[in-house]
Amino acid sequence: MERTFAIIKPDAVKKGVTGQILARIEAAGFRLCGMRMIHMSKAEAEGFYYVHKARPFFGGLTDFMSSGPCVVMCLEAPDAIKKWRDLMGATDPAKAEPGTLRKDFGASIDNNATHGSDAPETAAFELGYFFRGMEL
Ligand code: GDP
Repeated sequence: MERTFAIIKPDAVKKGVTGQILARIEAAGFRLCGMRMIHMSKAEAEGFYYVHKARPFFGGLTDFMSSGPCVVMCLEAPDAIKKWRDLMGATDPAKAEPGTLRKDFGASIDNNATHGSDAPETAAFELGYFFRGMEL
């Protein structure tokens, strides 16, 4: 079993597709082991995405992530990190495969509906950023 960290981003919450995304997560066989709706401050978004702080899109990305509520989750399944990234699809919805969440619910590379950890080390950091051990 493996755990990964996932977000239903502010664009998807605003569009009213949170329930549809949760249904797709459960239908794919993930166990939801933690979930909370939060509204990140700009500083909290900057801390979460600190690895991207030198990138030109950092300001826009952290403005977007702090623009409204999002849903943070811990998902569990065999090979959960890869399985969740496969379900999300490519970072840019225009390049995402049909049937993926970003293809179906994302509008652009900035507004791409979901987030998922990309490796065991990032999953550990990201789960720890939003959840206390006792909550999971
Ligand atoms: P992810 O793991 O697929 O979410 O992609 P990354 O961790 O590389 O990037 C984090 C987020 O930053 C992505 O989900 C995008 O919303 C945004 N992003 C990544 N690359 C770019 C880019 O080249 N341009 C813009 N505008 N946004 C980007």
